[in-house]
Amino acid sequence: MLLSIVVSVYNEEKALPSFYRETSRVLRSLTWDYELLFVDDGSQDGSRLVLEQLAEGDEKVKLIGLSRNFGHEAAMIAGLDYCHGDGVVCMDADLQHPPECIPDIVDRLEQGYQVINMVRTRNEDAGLVKNITSLAFYRLINAISDVHFEPNASDFFALDKRVIQVMQTSYREKVRFLRGYVQNVGFKKTTLPYAARPRVAGKSKYSIKKLFTFSVNTILCFSNVPLKLGIYAGMFSALLGLGVMVYTLLTRDGAPSGYATIVVLLCFMFAMLFVVVGIIGEYIAILFTELKDRPVYIVADTRNIGQDGSEDK
Ligand code: UDP
Ligand code: MG
Repeated sequence: MLLSIVVSVYNEEKALPSFYRETSRVLRSLTWDYELLFVDDGSQDGSRLVLEQLAEGDEKVKLIGLSRNFGHEAAMIAGLDYCHGDGVVCMDADLQHPPECIPDIVDRLEQGYQVINMVRTRNEDAGLVKNITSLAFYRLINAISDVHFEPNASDFFALDKRVIQVMQTSYREKVRFLRGYVQNVGFKKTTLPYAARPRVAGKSKYSIKKLFTFSVNTILCFSNVPLKLGIYAGMFSALLGLGVMVYTLLTRDGAPSGYATIVVLLCFMFAMLFVVVGIIGEYIAILFTELKDRPVYIVADTRNIGQDGSEDK
């Protein structure tokens, strides 16, 4: 049996040597054969050089170089497309996902589990703000979407061959949430806990702003509820108008009273209107992106990978 480890790399020159050392040590102790598939997501530091040296000295190290930075998820998708394993483990290059978990993952794969979600029990690096916003995000998305998201799930997960095939052919959306798909493809699932380690070197590439955009896109992709806000807002304004009309008729003060009331109401109504238009705009933006059908990633070159299937997807 072959185990593929997919690692997305963006400016991790300092973390890579220890990642390679620790992970290889664990992998060599397995009964399975393995391939260590690094996806260089357009790094601008020395990561590429480090990876080339690793690939030179170890034929189990495979390298896919993307033509530019496409983002963490796109890099993972590239890795999933190119892996040949009977099982795959996706992990980060910064050792936050401990390689010691791999033997347990392989056990689960051998027991016939097809999707193994690794759930964080402790996150050393995330600050209070990141933890609170992340909790709020999961509450919201679980309330308004018909699929369930595990709050502490991470981009650390394992799939068996069948699910890899599904990922290679379906869920090829441009605006996406890979972790969400993995949790919702079905199949025989299980979770394993892990304690996230501190980053071994370098710094996190996910800024609060990036996380915010990511969260908004996820909500829009997995729920139509925001689109319905317009209907509720319309019903609310209709009721409000009706109430004011009845009140005016009953009190019979036909003369206009209260400039402030009118201005406040107008601003309020327009605000609702524009918010709803904005939400529709966001959905149209997603449709536009999907319609253009640009590649999720573009491969520039590879190392230790045969000629097969090197087209961009
Ligand atoms: N990463 C990537 N492309 C990017 C940003 C990040 O491939 O545009 C990789 C990064 O090298 C790391 C993983 O994705 O291996 C997770 O990124 P990071 O550690 O910065 O995220 P965090 O763990 O802080 O959420
Ligand atoms: Mg990290």
